[in-house]
Amino acid sequence: MSSFDDVQNRFGAADQGSLRRTNLALVLGRLRDQGPRSRARLATELGITRSGVSSLVGELVERGLVRTGVVERGAVGRPGTSVRLDGRSVCGIGAEINVHHVATMAMDLSGNVVAEHRLTLDGNRHEASEVVDRLVELVSRTEDDVAAHGAAPVGLTVGVAGLVDSTRDMLTLGPNLEWREVPVGAMIRDRLQPDYPVVIDNEGNLAAIAETLPGDPGRRDILVIFGEVGLGGGIVADGRLLRGRQGYAGEFGHMIVDPQGRRCGCGRIGCWETVAGLRALLDAAADTDDAVRDPALGLQARLAELNRRADLGDTRTLAALDQVGGWIGVGAAMLTNALNPAAIVLSGYFAEVGHHMRGSIEARLEAGVLAPHAGGTVVELSTLGFTAAVRGGATLALESVFADPTRVERLVPVAQGESR
Ligand SMILES: [Zn+2]
Repeated sequence: MSSFDDVQNRFGAADQGSLRRTNLALVLGRLRDQGPRSRARLATELGITRSGVSSLVGELVERGLVRTGVVERGAVGRPGTSVRLDGRSVCGIGAEINVHHVATMAMDLSGNVVAEHRLTLDGNRHEASEVVDRLVELVSRTEDDVAAHGAAPVGLTVGVAGLVDSTRDMLTLGPNLEWREVPVGAMIRDRLQPDYPVVIDNEGNLAAIAETLPGDPGRRDILVIFGEVGLGGGIVADGRLLRGRQGYAGEFGHMIVDPQGRRCGCGRIGCWETVAGLRALLDAAADTDDAVRDPALGLQARLAELNRRADLGDTRTLAALDQVGGWIGVGAAMLTNALNPAAIVLSGYFAEVGHHMRGSIEARLEAGVLAPHAGGTVVELSTLGFTAAVRGGATLALESVFADPTRVERLVPVAQGESR
């Protein structure tokens, strides 16, 4: 909570307003987590009077966040008028700076993707300012798409491949980007001059947020491993992202698993990402002059080629996938012993080729976890592919609306700034 809220809470006069905001947030959150339902059902579930719920729903309708009128099916008793999320008028924007690309995504309150942009770009071959320039261009295009959709952005979350100090709004260290102490948030705000908040975060954290499906009990305790050149991820415990003291939690890629092995981008020897990151897979799967190791080709095309070879039974490709999968299992077992997640969700490049690694991952996981049958932890492949981080960013940006629906103005007939 911001200090502004703390100050408000100290003064009784603000209590009424804050109670109403809390109740608006409760109704909106219920509709997101549990789906459309009648006012009567909302009243029962939330312990608010029927008239109270009607008033809250009325205000959420005025703010364009919910709509009513569809008859609820399958409910016990008389069918009621159903209330559901609307939120076409607001979008969260997620963005990502990774080693080989920058990307954006805009998503409305109901989770519909409104815009998506991606640009292949080698982050470590350019100055940080240049990369941020390209990203800001993508964000501007995304803003245009959002406006054309009749919506307005409520926030931008930018995931960066590296350590992000949330208290200083700073990328402390991006080993694979080869960036150090870069004020990414301030740089974006200077260029974009947005009228909405801009937050920077670690891409693995954002990928984890994208995998935490509201209302799904199987996704309340998960471990997300996000594979790119680096290996990162996020820990979701009881539905909440664990960030740690400074926001640095989830740097799984730098657990040392092979002390006699290769040097990592961070300078240490044998970090998990040196044996399980994308570079390890490509190095093992092909010679240097092979097309799958040509950065000029898009990563998706290179991974598709690896899949093609694996499907044809190519020995070297299968051995490489097996070897890297085994290392994934080694690290996953350590993390499972520590955290006992319901699922380990493999995201990023694993989403593309992970089905060829599953056997070796599961074997090493089972072997390395003390609890029988790996403590019930299952291995799942993300269906979000390389969009996980931007999707999580957009989700996080929308969170401000779920926390306080009054952030969205009541609808007016002609949107601000629109000329007729
Ligand atoms: Zn390292």
